[in-house]
Amino acid sequence: MASSATNYLGRLAPSPTGHLHLGHARTFWLAAARARAARGPLLLRNDDLDRDRCRPEFVTAMQDDLRWLGLAWTGPMITQSERLPRYRAALIRLHAAGLIFPCTRSRRDVLDAAGAPHESGVDDEPVYPREFRPAPGAALPPLGEAISVNWRFRVPEGETVEFHDERCGAQRAAAGHDFGDFLVWRKDDTPSYQLATVVDDAEFGITEVVRGEDLIRSTFRQLLLFRALGWPAPRFFHAPLLLDDRGTRLAKRHDALALRALRARGVTPAEILARFAAETA
Ligand code: GLU
Repeated sequence: MASSATNYLGRLAPSPTGHLHLGHARTFWLAAARARAARGPLLLRNDDLDRDRCRPEFVTAMQDDLRWLGLAWTGPMITQSERLPRYRAALIRLHAAGLIFPCTRSRRDVLDAAGAPHESGVDDEPVYPREFRPAPGAALPPLGEAISVNWRFRVPEGETVEFHDERCGAQRAAAGHDFGDFLVWRKDDTPSYQLATVVDDAEFGITEVVRGEDLIRSTFRQLLLFRALGWPAPRFFHAPLLLDDRGTRLAKRHDALALRALRARGVTPAEILARFAAETA
């Protein structure tokens, strides 16, 4: 069905693992501009599931930085750590459908296994080796109350997954080759990013996901989850990544480009937004 200008619902989904930098700001600025152009609201989601890396002071800081930049959101912030029962409900459905399996292999095992190519520097899961998979149809152990093993989604081997990206055009990847069986739940009993984001984007009715193009490969995984859970997928707009002077992608360790560092040096929001507008023109 064609979308009308009034049914747009977007979201900003920062992870409170550090201070927001110019790269986040540009993606969020694009997300806000697309929502505004479609006269649709924009939600703010706090992706705080990584217990080791997320810190409460970064949650306050990211809200403060977004406000300083003039990026507004609609309604109360959604906090993923408060939605664990929703993610668990989706996991139970995947388990009942036999679409996941428990995995006791370490990340090292997966990386070391032959046929698990991994691009260095890419913050992504390596392709899960086929020989580590349980046989299709093997009886699944129960999930149990507290989960202490990783659970992975079994991707449909060899299937080509396709989508149209609103910026990058046609995208396609082969399941089992370009990406493999991926984590849906971690052995520390937390949902993976892939599962949590799909549950949230579906349950809040997000119509367009705007995020960095480093997540394109994750989009293929997420499309398989939307389908497995019987939910329509949103549209996707993957924004270009901001690179530093050496052509390296900005990371939270680029403290000099943190919004608060720029602010402390007297840079104004208007200057930052003018730079984004000039780069995008
Ligand atoms: N919190 C995720 C990130 O910062 C969000 C990704 C997404 O927009 O789905 O990478």
